[in-house]
This record gives sequence, structure tokens and C-alpha cells, in this order.
Amino acid sequence: MIPYGHQLITRRDIDAVTEVLRSDFLTQGPAAPAFEQALSAICGARHAVAVNSATSALHLACLALGLGRGDILWTTTNTFVASANCGRYCGADVDFVDIDPVTWNMSVAALRDKLVRAKSAGRLPKVVIPVHFAGQPTEQEAIWALAQEFGFKIIEDASHAIGASRNGEAAGNCRWSHITVFSFHPVKIVTTGEGGAALTNDAALAQRMTLLRSHGVTRDSSLMQRAPDGPWYYEQIELGFNYRMTDIQAALGLSQLSRLESLIEQRNAIAGRYDQLLRDLPLQLPVVRPENRSAFHLYVVCMQDDTSRAAHRAVFEFLRAQGIGVNLHYMPVHMQPYYRDLGFGEGMFPEAERYAQRAISLPIYVGLSEQQQLYVAQTLRKALT
Ligand SMILES: *Cc1c(COP(=O)(O)O)cnc(C)c1O
Repeated sequence: MIPYGHQLITRRDIDAVTEVLRSDFLTQGPAAPAFEQALSAICGARHAVAVNSATSALHLACLALGLGRGDILWTTTNTFVASANCGRYCGADVDFVDIDPVTWNMSVAALRDKLVRAKSAGRLPKVVIPVHFAGQPTEQEAIWALAQEFGFKIIEDASHAIGASRNGEAAGNCRWSHITVFSFHPVKIVTTGEGGAALTNDAALAQRMTLLRSHGVTRDSSLMQRAPDGPWYYEQIELGFNYRMTDIQAALGLSQLSRLESLIEQRNAIAGRYDQLLRDLPLQLPVVRPENRSAFHLYVVCMQDDTSRAAHRAVFEFLRAQGIGVNLHYMPVHMQPYYRDLGFGEGMFPEAERYAQRAISLPIYVGLSEQQQLYVAQTLRKALT
């Protein structure tokens, strides 16, 4: 089976991990801070907080922004469930915004309309989480302008988008958001096995996320409430978690990050090849806005508007039977049973639902050969004709 995504681990990655295994620290040593420094340098944000998953990073980001019971969080419905669940962890209400039918990102027009309605209803969100779907940056300056107008905070879920850029500025720079989150799960662009990070330009937010990442415990006397009574002294000043990234993971991430530019180039080359191979098929291909460079975490094609559910499913089954591990990114989050139980359902976000009835994620990863791409294209052609 050709999977839709796959990690590439080099000799250098293995050496970097082995070096940590032979060192004094498997966790809380020098590798995680070095990884954080490399992340902030590459992305152009002042602070990076490495954690054990993007899900944890989203949770810490919400807590740092003060999200809690009675508050509201909005995200796109075309995302992985974690972008919404972080709001629920904090006891907040979650709601969704429909997508742009061309980029498949959160629609800024739909966001604006929903904000206007929410304002008159007195139900404005405290936090909005746009997702750089498939690796294409959202229209972040426009979302930032709405944040100023309507008074919400922004967490960018850039789990798909490390290495992407917009108007020449790297994803994760946080110029148009309060916090940006990355995932380092093995199907993503850069991996640490499991892992994530939260970036910000705000020192107070970084400090709060760092504290909550490790039990809410501090050894920093400026944060303490009482005078230390000995050299053993530390204080737990909040209820935190163990969301730390190990040095084993960070060493892998640091080694992978050193190849980021080449990884993004290769993913763009694969996408360009698909564009050529598929251009005469009855498919909607990915559209990357001229001001954007996509990280191409995913390469999604959409079948034609009038495609029936049965026809969509038949193409999936045919491709899978031919050894091509196609996938659907995403079943809209509001259609998941957990969210249906909260009152969501069919027909609430029609663009995302229409998209999900036609979308197919084709294999894309560094190491996918031209031969394999040709096979994917030929098989898809057979399935459609
Ligand atoms: C993968 C992913 C996550 C969760 O990442 P983990 O590191 O597995 O917790 C969150 N949001 C999006 C959009 C993702 O694709």
C-alpha cells in the first residue's frame, strides 16, 4: 500500500537520537531548548514552547489566553478534531466556521458574517483557531483585522504548515496571531515521533505555557508566592500538566528541522507533478494563492460538484483496492457523534459538507517516487473514466 503520508528518517536523524540515548539526559536536558531556539529562529517568533503533541500545545494555548467555562471558541469544521477539542478541555463552548470552496481554509467572509451575528446576540468568541489546511496559510491579516474589531484572540493551528510562508513571511511568525501551534506527528512535515510546539511573541504567554507544561511548578523566585526556605524549594502555583517533550524527541526534531527547506521544496515538486498528471481529469485541484507558499502536507483533489456519495465512495474503494492509501481530510468535525450530541449536525456548514462528499487526499510525502505518482495518476484516471 502506498500510504497518504510517511516519515523519512535519515542516518543523521538516527545518530542525533542515539547521541541523546548515550547522554546524561533523556528529558529536561539541552536538546529540547535547542529545538525551541531553532524553531523560533526559523519561524521568526520570539518564543517557542516544545510539548508532547500539538493537542497539548492547543490546550496550553487556550489556557494561556484565559479560555474557560462560559467562553466560546470557534474553529473551522474542516480540521482534525483536536482544533475543537482544546476548547472543550477548558470547559468552553465550541462552534464552527464554514470553509472557502477554493482554498478549503476557514472562509473569512463566513467568519465576518458570523461575528456580526454573534455580536448582536452577545455571543462573541474569546478565541478563534484558523487552520492552515493542507499547508496553505490562511488570510491571516484579514482575520487579525477582525480580531481587532471584535476583540477575540487567535491561535493559528499550523499543524500542516511548518515551512509554509505568506508574502514571504514564515508560518509561525505570529505577526497576525497571539499563538501558533505546530504538530510533529510522523505524517506531518517534520516529526519527533509525537510532539508539538506553541510559538508566540508575547513573553507572558510563553511563560504561562511553560509553567503549565510542567505541573504549574516553578523554580523562578520572581514567580513564587513565599520566600524559599532552602535550596530544595520550588512552588506549584497553578494546576499544570506533564506535557513536556523529551530530549530524544527534540534531537530528532532538530535534525529534521535542519532539512526543512529541502522537505518543502520536494513536497512542492510532488504537488507540481500531480498538477501536470491530473490537469485533464474532471477534478478540482489544489489552488495555492500567489502570495502563499504551501507546505503541501496534503494534496487533496475534489471530484465534480454533482458527484454522488456512492461514486465518491467507489473511487475510494477502487484506489484502496489498487494499493493506494487515499484518505479523507476531513470528515467535518461538527458531524462527529461527540459534536452531534452537543447539537451540531447535517446542513449547518454546507461548503465543508459539500467538500467532504467529494474530496480525496492522494499520497504525498518525501520519498514518494515519480513512478509511484504516475501509478496513482493512472489508477485515478481509471477510477474516473
Ligand atoms: C495532526 C493535527 C493536530 C494534532 O496533532 P498531534 O500532534 O497529533 O496532537 C491538530 N490539528 C491539526 C490540524 C492536525 O492536522
